[in-house]
Amino acid sequence: MNVTRFAPSPNGPLHLGHAFSAIVAHDLAKERAGRFLLRIEDIDGARSRPELADAFRADLAWLGLEWEEVPPQSTRLGAYAEATERLRSEGLLYPCRCTRAEIAAAATKTGPDGPVYPGICRGASLAADGDVAWRLDMVEAIRRTGPLTWFDARAGEQDARPELLGDAVLARKEAETPASYHLAVTIDDAADGVTHVTRGMDLFAATHVHRLLQELLGLPVPTWHHHPLLLDETGHKLAKRRGSPSLADRRRAGEDGRALADSLRAGRLPAGITLGEGLSDPS
Ligand SMILES: [Zn+2]
Repeated sequence: MNVTRFAPSPNGPLHLGHAFSAIVAHDLAKERAGRFLLRIEDIDGARSRPELADAFRADLAWLGLEWEEVPPQSTRLGAYAEATERLRSEGLLYPCRCTRAEIAAAATKTGPDGPVYPGICRGASLAADGDVAWRLDMVEAIRRTGPLTWFDARAGEQDARPELLGDAVLARKEAETPASYHLAVTIDDAADGVTHVTRGMDLFAATHVHRLLQELLGLPVPTWHHHPLLLDETGHKLAKRRGSPSLADRRRAGEDGRALADSLRAGRLPAGITLGEGLSDPS
């Protein structure tokens, strides 16, 4: 049985790109009589607006999708803290106080997530009190797991290359966002029993780190399905700030959501929108 999920963050309304992602995940589950899960990723601190989750549910129903909702990330803070503690006790994490600007100034390599952390605090034995981020010692982590592979339904067998992302942050400085995306999503997908992690190509490289974390934490290894992205005229991933109407706007304007979903399934896209792998987003 396929178990897939759609995991939006309530920090802005859903748009067509989200609809496409939800439909891909939904249909992949339903074609094998599987389960399609909705998980609200609500630990984005000040940017998180939990009231948006109700609009998300209305959007999915409007598109004609059926889902089961699983616990939001805010209910799993204990599990994230436990995983962080485990990796820390195994000597795989180190504290870092660097600011974004310091990292940008010192970085000599750019990876899929932006500037690669140049290891300023690695081995510096900083005191772990107060506002520190916890980074994964990537070289040591890879040494312990040995070579890993993962499978993408579209791209095939992949050699895991987590080193591309450098010493990723697993626990953030900000107390209200205690786990990074990498750690939270890896733990959530395992806890929810997801068998097919379906998401956009923009997260393809992140999977290298997620596969490594699964190995370090002894979690099951799913299959991935990174789908192409809806792109605007500039070749970038569709985003609200570039003028794509939200699903809620379309819904309230009386548009037929099921017809829209069928158009997206058939690859009939609104004018100016194309499906592709996407240029990196300079955000
Ligand atoms: Zn640092």
